[in-house]
Amino acid sequence: MDRRYWDEELETAPWPEVEAWQAGHVVHFLDGLRSRSAFHKDRVDSAARPAGTPRSLELLADLPFTTKDELRRSQDEQVAGEPFGRHQAVPLSEIVQVVSSSGTTGDPLYYALTAADLELWRQVIAAVFYTAGIRAGDVVAHLVGLPGVAGGLPYADGFRTLGATLAWLGGFPTERILRSFPRLQVSAVLSTASFGTYLTDHCEEVIGEPAASLGVAKFLGGGEPGFGQREIRDKVRAGWGLDHVREVMGLADVLSAVWGECDDESGMHFCAQRGVAVELIDPTTGQQLSWREGASGEVVYTTFAREATPMLRYRSSDHVVVTGVECRCGRTSPKIRCIGRTDDMLIYKGMNVFPTAIRDVALSAVGDAVQPYVRIWKERADQVRFDDAIPVDIEASAELAAERYPALASRIEAELRSRLQVRAVVSVVAPGTLPQNAYKTPLVHVRSNAEGNAK
Ligand SMILES: [Zn+2]
Repeated sequence: MDRRYWDEELETAPWPEVEAWQAGHVVHFLDGLRSRSAFHKDRVDSAARPAGTPRSLELLADLPFTTKDELRRSQDEQVAGEPFGRHQAVPLSEIVQVVSSSGTTGDPLYYALTAADLELWRQVIAAVFYTAGIRAGDVVAHLVGLPGVAGGLPYADGFRTLGATLAWLGGFPTERILRSFPRLQVSAVLSTASFGTYLTDHCEEVIGEPAASLGVAKFLGGGEPGFGQREIRDKVRAGWGLDHVREVMGLADVLSAVWGECDDESGMHFCAQRGVAVELIDPTTGQQLSWREGASGEVVYTTFAREATPMLRYRSSDHVVVTGVECRCGRTSPKIRCIGRTDDMLIYKGMNVFPTAIRDVALSAVGDAVQPYVRIWKERADQVRFDDAIPVDIEASAELAAERYPALASRIEAELRSRLQVRAVVSVVAPGTLPQNAYKTPLVHVRSNAEGNAK
């Protein structure tokens, strides 16, 4: 019989008990880190030791954060035998796999897995996909084309671990991918949100048949915010003629899938209880925040079971909003939506604004009149501040007459002003104008560079 949870004990235990159990592991992790890595030793030694026997993740509160820049510098030292950086905590002879960050926000960083790390990743990623409704009977089209990134081989392992049939079609031409769906009786698709939206729009043009005729029943998106947006989700749902659209999220630096959306479809549950402690912090003060519905902040991870490249309070740059702390599905972990990344954040007259928020407001303001393709212009790659109106292009839907574009643009500008307090100059452009990318489509483009060269 189909079981309800992948890891029932940890997925359904009261959250404070899960944190208490994790806290015990974190204490051992901290003791071990001292001897395993010079990078971590200095940092742990310089912090005050938590007193008594900590029973919650408050014990992490006084320890230093780790940032991507620090990892980059650590990796740039290129010490012999430590290609992954000074934070590499095992000899090369114990490492069995390299995982790369996607490099969408700078040069890629490389992470390592031991055999034990690999087994933990398989179990957690399987739990994420199980939570997102993938089952042993599914034939899953895995559309990430790069095996070496977080969403590549690790996701393939996750699907096989839970017993689904892996159909790794990522990397083939779009036409071959789409024609393989009916041939292989593909029931579920995993892709980035950008590519999922792209396939939805272009299926009929590429193979002469609508996506809804291909028999796909489940659609999973990850790798970037997108499927959290109702309009994008509705588009995928309508295009493929299915009900099941879910989001998953993770990161190479920590574990490539740690959040998965259950059948309540109201946010992604944390699914990595077995190996990762998760904190929500105020990104400005660094203070821990409690997991309560409506709270928002940056997610910080401690990989207390990771051997090869362990992370202590890693600042993910992912800003999330908590959509729930209890759920009809019976899982007890917090549920979130990702609202953007620090790297993408723009500052308009001193206020932070995420490009995804601009897209979300535009889409929800005018619904079907536009497509979810949005481009925000910067003058220079390093521009973060905007003191003048932010230039935004958005694609019209095919049904909209061109003479209605200017009125629609004014309406979107008014919504952005009233809902985000942001002034924008919106241009509604003809369908097919904006670049679409097969992997991840950046929302922000630099005007002085060639088109499509983001950030
Ligand atoms: Zn749930």
